[in-house]
Amino acid sequence: MKKDELLKILMNCNRCGMCQEVCPTYRVSHIEANVARGRNRLIRLALENQLNLDKEPEVEKIINECLLCKACEDSCPSGVPTPEIIASIRAHYTNTKGLPLGKKIMYRGVFSNNKTISLVRNLAWIYQKCGINKLVKFTGLFNKTDEMLPNLPPKNVRSQLPVLLKVLPNADHRVAYFLGCSVNNFFSSIGVASIKVLQENNCDVIVPEVNCCGAPHHSAGDMEEFKRLAKNNLRMLNDLDVEAIIFDCSTCGSVIKDYENLFTGDEEYEKIAAQVAEKVQDISSYLISIDFNKNMGTISKKVTYHDPCHGIRFLKVKDAPREILKSIPGLELIEMQEADMCCGGAGSYGIFNPKLSRDILARKMENFKNTQADILATSCPACTMQLSFGMKIHNLNCSVKHPVELLVQAYEIKSL
Ligand code: SF4
Ligand code: SF4
Repeated sequence: MKKDELLKILMNCNRCGMCQEVCPTYRVSHIEANVARGRNRLIRLALENQLNLDKEPEVEKIINECLLCKACEDSCPSGVPTPEIIASIRAHYTNTKGLPLGKKIMYRGVFSNNKTISLVRNLAWIYQKCGINKLVKFTGLFNKTDEMLPNLPPKNVRSQLPVLLKVLPNADHRVAYFLGCSVNNFFSSIGVASIKVLQENNCDVIVPEVNCCGAPHHSAGDMEEFKRLAKNNLRMLNDLDVEAIIFDCSTCGSVIKDYENLFTGDEEYEKIAAQVAEKVQDISSYLISIDFNKNMGTISKKVTYHDPCHGIRFLKVKDAPREILKSIPGLELIEMQEADMCCGGAGSYGIFNPKLSRDILARKMENFKNTQADILATSCPACTMQLSFGMKIHNLNCSVKHPVELLVQAYEIKSL
């Protein structure tokens, strides 16, 4: 966004403070600078030359502490798009100073490349299997950062595709499944469940060779790399002979749906992005739309649902995952307080902002505990990682599951 445009938008903030109630970083810190109003005020001062963004590390920290969760924007009477404003300032920092080394290694070095992320995953799996992680935990090294990693599966999803993908001669539907890098490498049970559930519902599934959606790069202000990844994905998703492109990760789905805005004015990619956006479907919503198979076995448990920010505020998905959960015989859905408040995961936010992230997580886990549910369901691998970490550090013996994992379990119980 250009300086004039930014200033014009910032002028719309009437300082009403309605964002305070919904902003997770404000709710745990009670610091004015940590809410949309405060952040926007600092940016406005900088644009009016009363403050130098590049010479105020404290301001940069505050800009980086925003979760980009969009809760402020949704409750703002003036419609101030704070996450977009923050993203522009982060892009400014990255353009002028480059990415900080840690983010550069993690995002450009690892997430940008499917082979590297796979290699890192394999090394992390060995690290967990041979017990070094327990030694590291004992020494207190990494300040629990390595504990944020889930228990890694022995194989990623892509390596299992030859066995998983079945030929359905009389399929009712043909869909593409977007296998995001987190699900593929860290939460393969979600990816396997998604494919099985789609096939159980007579969908012929294809899995294009995509790369990371670019969410981490966008959140760090690395727009150049974000665009490169987006173009690769659009080339892979363009012109697929499918009725929908299915996402089990709310973040990937919402980022790819928004490529259209990223390429506004780009002759080649704007049209492709619009065509792809039309086919983006959250998996729960898609299953509801095709009247999914409800012939299931019983799961006698209590479950509650955490809305990922990218699910509820970006993709506007609220009821569909709850409908899926409610359809499973024996499974009782209990709503939790603040179900739509960010869990503090926000990609790798917990690594770079551990204190705030854990304070926000503690609030979420308290709300979960109050439901007395056995299972915490959600539809985003970043939330799954954060919430599973929450189970560990709050000593809760409960599981975190994607709705499709429970659905596939219910189908399998029925077929026993
Ligand atoms: S809710 Fe909107 S208008 Fe009100 S203070 Fe927050 S950003 Fe400004
Ligand atoms: S995007 Fe989320 S964390 Fe950032 S200011 Fe808005 S409500 Fe707060």
